[in-house]
Amino acid sequence: MSAAKDLILPGATLGVMGGGQLGRMFVHAAQSMGYRTAVLDADATSPAGLVSHEHIRTPYLDDAGLAELARVSAAITTEFENVPAAALDQLAATRPVAPAGSAVAVCQDRAREKAHFVGCGVDCAPHALIETPEQLAAITDDLLPGILKTARLGYDGKGQVRVKTRAELEAAWADLKHVPCVLEKMLPLAYEVSVIVARGRDGQVVHFPLQQNLHRDGILAVTQVPAPNVTAAVSQQAYQFAHQIATSLNYVGVLCIEFFVLTDGRIVANEMAPRPHNSGHHTIDACDVSQFELQVRAMTGLPLVEPVLHSPCVMLNLLGDLWFPVVNGQRVAEQREPDWAAVLALSGTHLHLYGKTEARVARKMGHLTITGDTPEAARATALKAAAILGIEPF
Ligand code: ATP
Ligand code: MG
Repeated sequence: MSAAKDLILPGATLGVMGGGQLGRMFVHAAQSMGYRTAVLDADATSPAGLVSHEHIRTPYLDDAGLAELARVSAAITTEFENVPAAALDQLAATRPVAPAGSAVAVCQDRAREKAHFVGCGVDCAPHALIETPEQLAAITDDLLPGILKTARLGYDGKGQVRVKTRAELEAAWADLKHVPCVLEKMLPLAYEVSVIVARGRDGQVVHFPLQQNLHRDGILAVTQVPAPNVTAAVSQQAYQFAHQIATSLNYVGVLCIEFFVLTDGRIVANEMAPRPHNSGHHTIDACDVSQFELQVRAMTGLPLVEPVLHSPCVMLNLLGDLWFPVVNGQRVAEQREPDWAAVLALSGTHLHLYGKTEARVARKMGHLTITGDTPEAARATALKAAAILGIEPF
């Protein structure tokens, strides 16, 4: 399609599939650069729908909704990993879509994702696909203890069961209703990191400085940049892997790859997300260009630049739990607003809330980025903010 080669300039409308917080921050970035936006999401109060010029309220596979999104948009992206690849393919018949449905489809399926890592020379955890009782029976003991993960639709640690024995594995697969799964060997993690890259239509790849991530209960809790524990050799290896993965997918847009650094220093790929990522939210306040702006640039054909971290930072995820503090050993029943004024009295704090009115335990409500002159200063302020909010120290 020749239109895909043309620059899409400010004033045009950019479409996004999905109305969550990633879509909201994408919309903010696009609008600040002078674009109009259109969001497709069935939820009338979706975080991105609330701030977009246009909000098409239909399911992802609704023909009329997709036709309307294509009609109003000059180019389309996605903010939600599980948007059906078929919907992206349908849009791509008439409009440039970045990333392409084919790349998103690889990321949606853990088995395909791992095959892709291996295919481009990137190590991942030893694993096996379990789709049939025969495959279950053929599992060798060296994959135990392991983690059984559904091949599709897992996020924030959902759809995962840790298993120590063959009996536990069988029970776990039954609990997961025998859907296709991947069993991964449990690895000794030293720490977790991620790399966010952006790749343009011309094949140029740029990356953000590597992030170090702390997960709690399977959900990202804290991101620190620069990564405190990472050697230059490990980061170089991670950047090289990330570039290889993006290029071999012929990817256009922002892509995040999560890695494990093992206790013996080896680095293995965990999974990837075909979109901006929670571990890159600090880029809004701590880098000279954000992951959301790079998504805009990549999809419109504008130049990419190598992002620079101008401030060491810490990002704290604000989960719904914080709206239900524990008082005298008991979680309060009525939702109450955290003490933002106390947090914002600390210099270097940048509050982002996603406009979700109902807080729920484990729901991502917002994030707080803390910048400082040095990593130590950012961390010290972040620990104060965490104490005010009731987030465990890190
Ligand atoms: P996301 O919200 O990032 O999509 P997810 O539900 O897809 O999460 P994973 O990233 O696969 O889940 O795993 C969640 C966390 O569980 C990891 O960040 C890591 O802490 C731990 N974990 C996953 N796989 C392994 C493994 N093979 N060995 C050790 N720990 C693991
Ligand atoms: Mg993950």
